[in-house]
Amino acid sequence: PLLSRIDGTRAEQLMLRDTFGRVHTYLRISLTERCNLRCVYCMPEHGVSLTHSDKLLHPGELSRLVKLFATLGVNKVRLTGGEPTVRKDIVDVCRMISATPGIRTVAMTTNGVVLHRMLGDLVTAGLTAVNISLDTLRDDRFMQITRRPAAHHHRVMDAIRLAETSGRFDPVKVNCVVMKGVNDDELCDFVALTKDRNLEVRFIEFMPFDDNHWARSKMMTFMEMVDSVEGDRKGGGAATPSTPPAGEPPLARPGAFKRLVPVRSMAHGDTARLFRIDGHRGRIGFITSMTNQFCGQCNRLRLTADGNLKVCLFGSDEVSLRDPLRSGASDEDIADIIKKAVLQKHEALGGRDTPEGILASRNRPMITIGG
Ligand code: SAM
Ligand code: SF4
Repeated sequence: PLLSRIDGTRAEQLMLRDTFGRVHTYLRISLTERCNLRCVYCMPEHGVSLTHSDKLLHPGELSRLVKLFATLGVNKVRLTGGEPTVRKDIVDVCRMISATPGIRTVAMTTNGVVLHRMLGDLVTAGLTAVNISLDTLRDDRFMQITRRPAAHHHRVMDAIRLAETSGRFDPVKVNCVVMKGVNDDELCDFVALTKDRNLEVRFIEFMPFDDNHWARSKMMTFMEMVDSVEGDRKGGGAATPSTPPAGEPPLARPGAFKRLVPVRSMAHGDTARLFRIDGHRGRIGFITSMTNQFCGQCNRLRLTADGNLKVCLFGSDEVSLRDPLRSGASDEDIADIIKKAVLQKHEALGGRDTPEGILASRNRPMITIGG
């Protein structure tokens, strides 16, 4: 709405366009470095040293920055972390962002553990989309992956149901990071969830971050995932399901579903390649950041909890917005810093060619970036 009141040339000047012509309309905000889970692929084994609270953005600073980004053309914000729901003021933050002129979508990525306590309030506060992370349907694996008790697993599964039955999210998205030897034999079980439920299950290729023990051998590629769902056509892709412990449901055989039908080709800013199984209500997405980058379509920027702007998930380049904010910079000064950072954005993968190159660049651990 704000931009529509501005004439075309001025709007063009205000846009966050990089040297590859990509316009940035989507801001992902990490609201905290804290988390109530400790997922092996995200949180380093010995945790992360938390930034002192004085150095984290205060709600007032966050509000000013969101307004500023909105005047620069950002219309979608995702709240992430760490775990955004561990913030006591999460509902207020959500309300503040959704009330910002120009912001049309407020989404959240959450592990779902305490979502039941606040989902209704978040919806009232303007939350329009939710992604809930769930990597396994088995208690024993949940405990291994998240280093937390099985009771948390049940709460996550209940949170997905709750979000679904609220009828406010179309669809509820479920994020599943696939790791070889960990949960790669569960893909068909996740696909089976889409039969009668309006879910979008999104399989994510395991990405390298500082101290997450990434190795190529642990990464299940998009093609291997497709093989695992459709049947092991070329051999080698699908994992043989292990025997579940007593009391756990049997695992579906890899190849249980005949064909993944493409839903549509990727649109601007999409990260998921979408498919469905004939007769299923929900759909299946693949986030192929490692094997088929979508950098050419990238429309996203990231703001860390300590107030740094990251123009790429995989790049180590960061610029502080908090420091100029605290030393009295005007909105114009800060807008200039943001525009300059966007102009320095690399064409792909933060300027690295390979996952190994990304690792060598010393990025932050994922827990402090926000996915
Ligand atoms: N705590 C929230 C959650 O887990 O949904 C939000 C933050 S988390 C960093 C955001 C997303 O990044 C989650 O869906 C998580 O599974 C994903 N993620 C974290 N580390 C990853 C990795 N190494 N590779 C791929 N996805 C990862
Ligand atoms: Fe926490 Fe989410 Fe990272 Fe897991 S993926 S440790 S839930 S921030």
